[in-house]
Amino acid sequence: MDVLTPVLSEHWGTENSWKLSRYETTGGYRALRRALDMQPADVISLVKEANLRGRGGAGFPTGMKWSFVPQDNPNPKYLVVNADESEPGTCKDMPLMMASPHTLVEGVIISAFAINAHTAFIYCRGEVLHIIRRLQQAVREAYAAGYLGKNILGTGYDLDIIVHAGAGAYICGEETALLDSLEGRRGQPRLRPPFPAVAGLYASPTVVNNVESIASVPSIIANGAAWFQAMGTEKSKGFTLYSLSGHVKHPGQFEAPLGITLRELIELGGGVREGHELKFFTPGGSSTPILTAESLDIPLDYEGMAGAGSMLGTKALQVFDETTSVVRTTLRWVEFYKHESCGKCTPCREGTWWLVQLLMRFEAGTAEEGDIEKMLDACDNIGGRSFCALADGAVAATTSAVKHFRHEFEQGYHTPAWELFPYEKSAVF
Ligand code: NAD
Repeated sequence: MDVLTPVLSEHWGTENSWKLSRYETTGGYRALRRALDMQPADVISLVKEANLRGRGGAGFPTGMKWSFVPQDNPNPKYLVVNADESEPGTCKDMPLMMASPHTLVEGVIISAFAINAHTAFIYCRGEVLHIIRRLQQAVREAYAAGYLGKNILGTGYDLDIIVHAGAGAYICGEETALLDSLEGRRGQPRLRPPFPAVAGLYASPTVVNNVESIASVPSIIANGAAWFQAMGTEKSKGFTLYSLSGHVKHPGQFEAPLGITLRELIELGGGVREGHELKFFTPGGSSTPILTAESLDIPLDYEGMAGAGSMLGTKALQVFDETTSVVRTTLRWVEFYKHESCGKCTPCREGTWWLVQLLMRFEAGTAEEGDIEKMLDACDNIGGRSFCALADGAVAATTSAVKHFRHEFEQGYHTPAWELFPYEKSAVF
């Protein structure tokens, strides 16, 4: 396998890579011209044939999602880009938008054309002001060059893009909470079905796609479905961005075909830090069950990770060495979910609070016999019983930590985690 296949990240290191003039010199907006020459349905067919799967975490086929949009519905159709990247460890969309915003803008225009939308939104976290400004600048440049607005490139197709700043709530990355927030309401998830593709923004057909999914579209249009299909594994096609963080020598973004292994990625990242060894990792951010060194050679694709008892998720590989306390790490993650719970449903609002109380006892060495069972019982009453997938993330972190490192939780009956795993040894910097 060719380990590195830079497509999305090819020009990230180039001077002024975010400017339109620079983007055009490397073939930018040629795919748009090609797409606008096609029928919208043919654009959808091409993306379907390439088998691009959603890069936000779930891996749902992008072309199929587009084809669910009922074209006979008289309401306007909308495209919404989910740029509310917030999963702990997940940091691939932000650098993409910072270094190459026009790849996203070009992808938005092609994708909106395919589903017959004339308004598209990019919903971005409010805290990342520098990225919002960069996106706004790219959108302004695209309007000035005739790639956006009325009668794009003389084809008669009209599109407006609105860059929207969220207020920084993790729940607004959940697609229906994002839509509520975009409509001006408090961001809380809606019941699905109906899925947004059928009834989304203002109850109209709406495609919600992740930044990386949309940014992958121009290269598929430019190079064809066979080119994309030639990369990756049998069911997980193409290239993708992996975010490697934690106890590796050179953390960062690595673009590679789906199916690369963590062993290969860690090698690209210069190895685990000197004198230490891998203890556990997340394949796709804190919502995906942790795995251990036994899974180092399992392909990082949707099927491989499911077979290993986890999920590929956002491909955010957080690497932890033997100086890390699993109990403390789990507590930090679950505190995050407790803090970010929107409070709409009881299992999540109350359950994450209780998990934090129990985990604090394990961390402090004051847990009692039976607390592990109590914690797993709480997980049983949260997982699959809450309104959206937020609390499932807290459950996945907790149950997988107990599955692989039960003995460390048992140590929490008598010894504080900070004595067994001093902070200064686990610090990355
Ligand atoms: P999901 O599997 O329920 O849905 C995935 C997508 O497919 C959605 O857009 C949904 O509308 C669409 N879909 C599914 N079935 C459909 C149908 N029958 N008709 C029409 N559309 C359909 O997953 P989800 O709950 O939307 O997302 C969960 C994922 O989000 C997790 O895998 C997690 O890794 C990821 N995640 C990402 C971040 C981040 O920061 N990027 C944060 C948290 C979670």
